[in-house]
Amino acid sequence: MGGQCRLWAVNVGYGRERLAKVAYEQLKKLCYAPLTQSHEPAIRLAEKINSLLEDDYMMFYSNSGSDANEVAFKVIRQYHQQNGEGTRYKMIARYRAYHGSSLGALAATGQALRKYKYEPLTPGFLHVAPPDPYRRPKGQSIEAYNLARARDIEEKIIWEQKETIAAVIMEPFITGGGVLIPQPTYVQEVERICRKYGVLLIIDEVICGFGRTGKLFGHQHFGIRPDVITMAKGLTSAYLPLSITAVRKDIYEKFKASDGYSHFRHINTFGGNPAACAVALENIKIIEEEGLVQRAKDLGIQLLHDLQDLLELPYVGDIRGLGLLVGIELVEDKVSQKPAKEERVASIIAACKANGLIIGKNGDTVEGYNNIITLSPPLCCTDEDLDFMVAVLKRVFATHV
Ligand code: PLP
Repeated sequence: MGGQCRLWAVNVGYGRERLAKVAYEQLKKLCYAPLTQSHEPAIRLAEKINSLLEDDYMMFYSNSGSDANEVAFKVIRQYHQQNGEGTRYKMIARYRAYHGSSLGALAATGQALRKYKYEPLTPGFLHVAPPDPYRRPKGQSIEAYNLARARDIEEKIIWEQKETIAAVIMEPFITGGGVLIPQPTYVQEVERICRKYGVLLIIDEVICGFGRTGKLFGHQHFGIRPDVITMAKGLTSAYLPLSITAVRKDIYEKFKASDGYSHFRHINTFGGNPAACAVALENIKIIEEEGLVQRAKDLGIQLLHDLQDLLELPYVGDIRGLGLLVGIELVEDKVSQKPAKEERVASIIAACKANGLIIGKNGDTVEGYNNIITLSPPLCCTDEDLDFMVAVLKRVFATHV
């Protein structure tokens, strides 16, 4: 049993024969077509994603979340050039966020140890702190704190000279950086700031997308309208590699001039493989037929409720989450809130594994902030799975006081 569907990807769970079947059937029919042209599964998938986003986006297909974010950065830099604002090239991202392993996506990533020894990375990426409500200054209200973190982005835009800022990239909820849940007003304020300064907003839905947080897409919790949305993982539930960079139609319009310079000059041999697109369509069908988005929402409420007892332990500082994205922050003690020692975190993970429960840890690797136990089971998990998960966690945590 897995409390972690392995890198937050297998949203519909393992062993889905219908996904294997559609891949097989599609490979027999058409195994490959480069996306310099298009093919039927790619078109059908683009239409489906647009209906889910309830908006008008153009899809660019690649193979991984990192690819999808690289495409987003390139599209946005080119867009600003073709929109007469070629000075806009800088991207603002957040500390603690993870956006991928390639040079641009890693530059956007805000986890120092992941970058250490690979720098210099792609230039032009700046960082601000995300809201981490558990660690907000004593006495500051959660609302004021969230707004202050959004204003950090505005300050960054102003101090860096607003005409140089191309985009803000963020996950709706920081996932691999420690499961940080902002107030809706934070994200709404970031969107407002972006609009005010002509800065585009990229939302990285690589983990939050496809039901994980109890909405189909994480940003749908906030009623915002991203300019670019990147997705991977849950798009195919990891049965085959596929990612999407969804670009709002009005941005795409700037790529249509027939001057030989204006199209998006980016080739990806394997991106949008017909079998991967067919699997994505079938995967979405499963999510819809089995009501897995609602299931993630309901199970998430139950899971957070069932785990509350753990807060009585002296080393459990915070339990937070949304849908089936849950983090348990371990500390040395609740007053200092110092991150728990690596050995305690590792020992809990090992004990859970020995009891048949696979969980992960996350956060930022610098300064010991790798102290958040993460739970992200498949969205199809049963009530019994959930009870098992909670029982193991309670047993293991009790032996680690
Ligand atoms: N964005 C987020 C939020 C991620 O969590 C990840 C991977 O974990 C990526 C991007 C990169 O995806 P990939 O590993 O498919 O390149």
